[in-house]
Amino acid sequence: MLCYKCAKEGKETPAVGICVVCGMGLCKDHVNIAEVTFTEMVLMDTTSIAMLGMEQKRQRKAPRFLCDECYAGVAQSLADRQSTVTEE
Ligand SMILES: [Zn+2]
Ligand SMILES: [Zn+2]
Repeated sequence: MLCYKCAKEGKETPAVGICVVCGMGLCKDHVNIAEVTFTEMVLMDTTSIAMLGMEQKRQRKAPRFLCDECYAGVAQSLADRQSTVTEE
């Protein structure tokens, strides 16, 4: 697996991680690591968490690899969710 962003620039850089949202390979210069709780992960991808049987461990934190675009999107959606908690 090579970094997709570097590949677009004509470079062949080994990927150190894969974006959990879009599946893009990312090198250490292009990867973003987001520490999200399992509660947030359930909202992000319920199916994979359910498959792992981790429903009971929602307060644990886990790092996830994200590309720039998805990191921005996830950060925005988490911020939106926190700001609208009182309405739920
Ligand atoms: Zn790269
Ligand atoms: Zn992505």
